[in-house]
Amino acid sequence: MIHQPIHTLADAYRRGDLTPTAVAEAYLARIDALDRRVRAYLTIVREQALAAARESERRWRAGTPRGPLDGAPIALKDVLCTRGVRTTAGSKILDTFVPPYDATVVERLRAAGAVILGKTNLDEFAMGSSTEHSGFHPTRNPWDLTRVPGGSSGGSAAAVAAGMAAGGFGTDTGGSIRQPAAFCGVVGMKPTYGRVSRYGVVALASSLDQVGPFAQDVTDAAHLLGAVAGHDRRDATSIPAPVPDYAAELAKGVAGLTLGLPDEYFIDGMDPDVERAVRAAIEVLKGLGARVESVSLPTTRHALAAYYVILPAEASSNLARYDGVKFGLRVSAHDLVGMESRTRAAGFGAEVKRRIMLGTYALSAGYYDAYYGKAQSVRTLVRREFAAAFARVDLIVAPTTPNVAFKLGEKEDPLSMYLNDVFTIPGNLSGITGVSVPCGFSVSGLPIGLQILGRPLDEARVLRAAYAYEQATSWRGRRPDLP
Ligand code: GLN
Repeated sequence: MIHQPIHTLADAYRRGDLTPTAVAEAYLARIDALDRRVRAYLTIVREQALAAARESERRWRAGTPRGPLDGAPIALKDVLCTRGVRTTAGSKILDTFVPPYDATVVERLRAAGAVILGKTNLDEFAMGSSTEHSGFHPTRNPWDLTRVPGGSSGGSAAAVAAGMAAGGFGTDTGGSIRQPAAFCGVVGMKPTYGRVSRYGVVALASSLDQVGPFAQDVTDAAHLLGAVAGHDRRDATSIPAPVPDYAAELAKGVAGLTLGLPDEYFIDGMDPDVERAVRAAIEVLKGLGARVESVSLPTTRHALAAYYVILPAEASSNLARYDGVKFGLRVSAHDLVGMESRTRAAGFGAEVKRRIMLGTYALSAGYYDAYYGKAQSVRTLVRREFAAAFARVDLIVAPTTPNVAFKLGEKEDPLSMYLNDVFTIPGNLSGITGVSVPCGFSVSGLPIGLQILGRPLDEARVLRAAYAYEQATSWRGRRPDLP
């Protein structure tokens, strides 16, 4: 039952071959056995999970399941607020924060019958690409425990890859779902900005943040997305558009679709194994009847720089609320300013402080136009280039990352870490949707991800192409060997 996709679990529940309680117990036992080494979780909610599983079991027995996610064991990145369960955002400053409410995503998952196993590790406040910069401990890649799982949602990606959750959720602000999905050999999807509610999600950069699923296969990704997508009046940026039945569209194939291949996404210095695997994947899609054209996205090389002005600017403003007054850590002092500065000095890690300072600087009088204003202009160009490309092609295919999972401690200077996101960040700046689907392995046996990007709200077509590719290949059956 471990490593069984959620849709097949639901079939087994229906037939009575498995029960949600037995499956939840098996997952909890596997977490007990493995997570000392992988360290994907920050908090495990054993009793809650078992109680939810028993409820689910009653519904399956009575023939009244709530849908394909009923009884599915799920891991949640620890930025999604969970009522009564500690939510840390990977930061010491929120070490003891217990939200009084559920994020909309969590509320919808519970309503769909999902069994939440626990909260997963991340780079502090989702700033990072390796999950090494968690305020608690690093997470390791299940394919090679000396390597990173990617980030910032590395805990959820590693949990799904290692069979410590059947599916998971993360957030993608600059690639934090797609990149760890690629590094861990699972499916990871960033929905269109506004497709999934951000209510109850600890904010990093509000104009970029988006919640999305990690899954063992594309069918599960479709179900997981379908359960949480849709308008929420508590998030003013949530899009009031109907949610298609993503799973029902999967089998439509790619024949007749035009795929764009961006020249700028094959760069000097990228891992030749990645390039080879992605080019082979494109041949597979051609063989399935897709047409491939090259497209140009020339502003790609400036997107990273623009992101690293816009993100710190928004983060510096969002993180101003952690001042020791309302939630989390408080380090006392003789006066208010002393208390605030001591709390922030003790509670935030180095990367978070770096970005708060960069963002505050970029927004300060005299620098605002030169940095923030300029970055916003670049963002507009990126958006226009995607719009122009999508006027000609249906989807864009590219590598998810320029390389495979790197060693813990390998990327010490921030810039080399930031460069890992060159292929994912433009998708966030433009607000479009994209998925990373496994497309092979490096010579050293590490997973590689194929990125498929689509027009705003075109998740169904993105998933359908990913599904066509997945069904034509055999990567999805491969799981890490973790005795
Ligand atoms: N790695 C990127 C960053 O450090 C993206 C993070 C994210 O998507 N949350 O900002």
